[in-house]
Amino acid sequence: MPQEVRGVIAKSKGAPVTVETIIVPDPGPSEAVVAIQACGVCHTDLHYREGGINNEFPFLLGHEAAGLVETVGEGVTDIKPGDFVILNWRAVCGTCRSCMKGKPQYCFDTHNATQKMTLTDGTELSPALGIGAFCDKTLVAAGQCTKVDPAAKPEVAGLLGCGVMAGLGAAMNTGQVSRGDSVAVFGCGGVGDAALEGARLAGAGTIIAVDIDDQKLEWAKGFGATHTINSADEDPVEKIREYTGGNGADVTIEAVGRPETYEQAFYARDLAGTVVLVGVPNPDMKIELPFIELFGRGGALKSSWYGDCLPSRDFPMLINLYLQGRLNLEGFVSETIEIDAVEDAFHKMEQGEVLRSVVMM
Ligand SMILES: [Zn+2]
Ligand SMILES: [Zn+2]
Repeated sequence: MPQEVRGVIAKSKGAPVTVETIIVPDPGPSEAVVAIQACGVCHTDLHYREGGINNEFPFLLGHEAAGLVETVGEGVTDIKPGDFVILNWRAVCGTCRSCMKGKPQYCFDTHNATQKMTLTDGTELSPALGIGAFCDKTLVAAGQCTKVDPAAKPEVAGLLGCGVMAGLGAAMNTGQVSRGDSVAVFGCGGVGDAALEGARLAGAGTIIAVDIDDQKLEWAKGFGATHTINSADEDPVEKIREYTGGNGADVTIEAVGRPETYEQAFYARDLAGTVVLVGVPNPDMKIELPFIELFGRGGALKSSWYGDCLPSRDFPMLINLYLQGRLNLEGFVSETIEIDAVEDAFHKMEQGEVLRSVVMM
C-alpha cells in the first residue's frame, strides 16, 4: 500500500520550502523504503531551491540521511527490514566501463529508484540527489542503502552520506594524504572541516585551515587544524609557505569552488604536490594559470567526486572509527531541529552560524 507521509518540498525557484503530504509507493524490484531518522541540511538543498541545479521543480529536499529499512522490493538481498543504513547518492552499477575496470568509486552510471514519489495530486517529485530524505519515509534504490553499525547515532551517521564524506574522502581518497604530510584546506565549512579531519586521521603532520571567518577558523581547530590563516587579513600562499619550511604543502584542498581560492591552492603547494578540488564551481566560472607553471610545478591536479568514496567500503569503516572515538563526527552537528525548521536552517547556514543543522524525524 502506498503511504502518505510528511516531506519538505521546494515548489518553485526561490520560494520558501514547505512541509507537504507526499505519497511513497511500495518498493519495486531493486528498491527499498527507508524510515528516515535524521537528515542533515546541506548547501546542495539550498542550491536546488534556488534553481541552481536544474529546473525540475517540485523537489523533495534532503539527502544526508540515516534510517531504518522498512520494506524491500523483489530481488533485494543485501539489506532487509530493520537494518540501520546511511543513504548514498552514488549507488554503483557494477557494469559500466569504470566498474568493469575495477574502479567502482568512479562509476559512470549510478542509479536511483525507478518509481516516483508524488504529491497527493499526483505531481511527480524530483528527490534531491536521487534521495529526498527530509521526510518520514523515502523510496530509494536498494544500492543507495549502506548498512552500518546501529550503535552510531542517526544524526551523526547521516552526515557521512554527503558533505562530510566528500571532505574526508578529498583528503584520504583523492589527495592520498599520508603520515607526516603537510596539508592546507581552503574553506572551513562542513566539507572543509571534514577534509581537515580526514588529514588528521591519515596522519598528516602540519594541518593548515584557511578561511575569511574567524569563527570558522576557531571551529577548524576542533577538526585537527594545527595552524589557521584568515585570508582576508593575510596572504594565504605566503603564510602556508612559512608554516611548511618555505616549501608549500604536500596536499592542498580547495573546498570553496572559486577560481581565486583554487589559484591560491595551486601556488600554496610544494613542488610535485597535489591539489584537490572538492568545492563545486558555478558553470560560468573560468580559471587562468600560466601554462609553464602547470608543467614546472609538476604533481597532480585532481577533482574529488563525493570524496571518491565507495560507500560500501568507506561508510562502515568510518562509522567504526567514529565509535572507537578516533573520528570526530559529532563536532559537525551544530543543532538538531524539527522538520518544519528547514527554511530557518537555510538562513543560519547562509549566515555561517552552523556547520550542520540536522532534522530529526
Ligand atoms: Zn558503474
Ligand atoms: Zn550534500
